[in-house]
Amino acid sequence: MDAKPASEPAKPPRQCYCASLDADFRQKQHIPVGYCGICERCGQPGHTQHFPGPLPYTGAWCDRCVKIVALTWPLKHPAFWTVLFMAVVAGLTYYFKK
Ligand SMILES: [Zn+2]
Ligand SMILES: [Zn+2]
Repeated sequence: MDAKPASEPAKPPRQCYCASLDADFRQKQHIPVGYCGICERCGQPGHTQHFPGPLPYTGAWCDRCVKIVALTWPLKHPAFWTVLFMAVVAGLTYYFKK
C-alpha cells in the first residue's frame, strides 16, 4: 500500500530547530539533548517552532503546551476580542431597536 519511494527521507516529527541547534548554545540555555528550546508556558524542555496559529511568531513550547497554545491562541489575539466586542455591540443594538 505504501506508494512512497523508499529513498524519500523520513519527515521530521515537527518543524523545529533540533537539527540546526548549536550544541554550545543548547548547553548555555540548559536545554537537554533531544530538545531545542525551553517551554515559554511551563519551563519544561521543549522545541523552538513556529506559532501554531496564523501569527508570524516563533517560540518554544513543550509538546503538551504547544497543543494548549494552538487551542487558546484566539483568546490572546486582539482581533478575537475586537470581533467579540463588535458582535456584542451588534447584538445589543439589535436588542434595543426592538
Ligand atoms: Zn526540536
Ligand atoms: Zn510547556
